[in-house]
Amino acid sequence: MKKKPILSVLLSASLLGSLLPAQALAGETERKQSLFNSEQYEYITYDALKGKLESYEKQSRRVQLDITGKSSTGKDLYTVTISDSKSKHSELKYKGLRKLMSENPEKAQRYLKANPDIKPPILIHASIHGTEFVGTDAALRLIERYGFKNDQETKEILKNFTLIINVDANPDGRVDATRFNGNGIDLNRDFVTQSQPETQAAVKQIAELNPLVLLDLHGYVRQRGEAKHPGLILPGTPPHNPNYEYDLLYKWMNQQAEAMESNIVSERDHYETELYKTLEGTHIPLRDSKSGWDVYPPIYTPAYAMLHGGLGYTLEAPTNDWDGVKWQVDAVNGALTFALQNKQAMLHDQLEVFDRGVKGEHPNNKEGFYPDSYIIPENQKDNSAVQKVVNHLLKNDVKVEQAAKSFHADGKRYEKGTYIIDLNQPKAGLANAFLWDGEDITNDMDAMYDISAWNLSELWGFDAIKSEDDLIVQTKEVREESVRGKLIGKGPYSIPNTSVNAVHLVNSLIDQGISVKKDKDGHFYAEGKGKAIQRAVQVSGLTLRTKAVPKEATPLKKHRVAFLKDGGLGKAQSHSGTKLALERLGFQVSEVHPREVANNGLNGFDTFVYSGSASLTSYKLSEANKEFGLTDEEELKRFNGQIKQFVEQDGHFIAIGAGGSQAAKAAGLTEVEINKGFSSSNGIVKVDYLPSPLTAGYSKNDAGFVYGPIWYSSTEGTNIAASFVNNDSFFTAGHWKDRSPAKGQPVIVQEKDKPVTLIGIEAGFRDHTDYLFRLISNAVFDQE
Ligand SMILES: [Zn+2]
Repeated sequence: MKKKPILSVLLSASLLGSLLPAQALAGETERKQSLFNSEQYEYITYDALKGKLESYEKQSRRVQLDITGKSSTGKDLYTVTISDSKSKHSELKYKGLRKLMSENPEKAQRYLKANPDIKPPILIHASIHGTEFVGTDAALRLIERYGFKNDQETKEILKNFTLIINVDANPDGRVDATRFNGNGIDLNRDFVTQSQPETQAAVKQIAELNPLVLLDLHGYVRQRGEAKHPGLILPGTPPHNPNYEYDLLYKWMNQQAEAMESNIVSERDHYETELYKTLEGTHIPLRDSKSGWDVYPPIYTPAYAMLHGGLGYTLEAPTNDWDGVKWQVDAVNGALTFALQNKQAMLHDQLEVFDRGVKGEHPNNKEGFYPDSYIIPENQKDNSAVQKVVNHLLKNDVKVEQAAKSFHADGKRYEKGTYIIDLNQPKAGLANAFLWDGEDITNDMDAMYDISAWNLSELWGFDAIKSEDDLIVQTKEVREESVRGKLIGKGPYSIPNTSVNAVHLVNSLIDQGISVKKDKDGHFYAEGKGKAIQRAVQVSGLTLRTKAVPKEATPLKKHRVAFLKDGGLGKAQSHSGTKLALERLGFQVSEVHPREVANNGLNGFDTFVYSGSASLTSYKLSEANKEFGLTDEEELKRFNGQIKQFVEQDGHFIAIGAGGSQAAKAAGLTEVEINKGFSSSNGIVKVDYLPSPLTAGYSKNDAGFVYGPIWYSSTEGTNIAASFVNNDSFFTAGHWKDRSPAKGQPVIVQEKDKPVTLIGIEAGFRDHTDYLFRLISNAVFDQE
């Protein structure tokens, strides 16, 4: 959906070079392989899925096909439910149990004991990474067995479980043969943020059904540990997220993983290739290694399911071929047989997770780890971030209440309308995982697999206050918060520079042709009549008050922003987070391939943003990566020349992160020294933002986020706009070894004599760092 208009705009503007790879122009034609895979086979294409699934539904009374959402480009997400019609009553009993789980888990346990014929759901989630094709083919084979076969074990499994199969969790990725969805987001990193429609659909499924087991089908791990142990099946290694009731989960997970393993081994004579015929096991990280494959951040599907008390597994098939497909099928069958033998006890423990929540008993945690509740006050100026988190919690099956009157807690007064999240509730672990500050785990591990801190309060921009008081206040349970802004007075209206929604409103008013001005503190003023701007204001959720426009305020114009595109370099789309940030801020963004920049320049744009891998300007790339970068040294010279010329003609170059800063330096746009921490280091930092148009809306000792941290030195030619706080506690949560050289060092600088801005922190990370997005809009608007 997004891709097409951008391409056609570029084509009509004749900006598109003739050197673009054919595949990038193929548009909607489905690719048939990924060069990133070492094996190839004829997997089922997304296009062929619909017909196949419809024919299954037609032929089997057990199979039901539903469309449970859309991808980012509007493709259908297919869910197949397999249920034996003879055990409908058991299914209904599960519905009763599901309701009791959220109300009274202890009662649910008694209900379970009295009703052993209950049928919990098991969720099979396939190919969330688009290039890991075997998952979807395995899903089809599983439907062919459980939808059609009548052997004793198949019948027993269907009598005891409802199988929910998310056949292709990432249609965009399969069609494009890329790991990501159409927005360039790795969906299996999105389960905290939940920014993408595919993730939202999966979250809805998990939160509503509360599956007992979730099997997430991935690839490819040919060998990680011992020889003859290809593939990998979670549970993961430490560190364990303290919000999981992991004693209850791991009690089953190692055993169930071993059941999958032994079923694979028992099938080895039926495989085609040597790797599989001779296998003796698989790699189970928790059993076989000390570190290196953690599921600490609940950004992954199975980790997220664990916060719903489910047993969540990643299954990494060894190879991209039919043996890889069979390996997945054998693993899932092993998991189902194990579940059959232990259903009652496993389900009892899942309910125990919720019972601990309700009672506030968390034996794995130190006293006080879970506060009694979180208090989230409404923000009188701009409540959009508060509304966002409240709706987020509700969608995730977390109970939220709202104070009917003002009240006191911990010696402080809170107004009527304040939100309260009482942590004595079934999904306490999930609620706390979203609302806690995180922790510094630098000394627990050598390195982390992915992010180690995600602090919603700091990175989305709202207050979440821990309270240990027994709150005495009348409350009502919140259902869904509707976002609705309003206008007070006759205008002109002041728009505070306080949130993504505020800047989006500014841009949509500019698009409407309404005059918007910016004052020296970075706040905005809309001069339109109430009627003309009402609609946009309503959607924004902001309350705008009438205020005189200061004399020095300058008018804003419509900005044309070009963005350097990473199509999937090294199985990453490093630019996507920042691109989504710009779009959510309301800018119109055109993605440009590095070769387009080299060959056609940046005419017609006001701003060029480089936020991504430094390798985007490399021409020494592997076969699989070639299509994403440059062709040769000559082209690199042209690229640097074009950027230099753009800046000389007053175009604004904005670098975000290490790659962009390096590119700026390579093109001769800056003399600063770029210093780097470990590429895997990441977390929440404290930043001193100094007063400047670039940092409007931020202050001293404010929040920042780093991933592969950088900082600048030799900054004589620049104005410093922000530095890491100059004390040892500038890093508050996450994992960053040897960070002391960064203490007090500059992280946002602007060249004194040219429009070049270098932002060292991750202002637009994976559509998650809402609070930092305005650093980017400030930079764009700073060019007026
Ligand atoms: Zn994967």
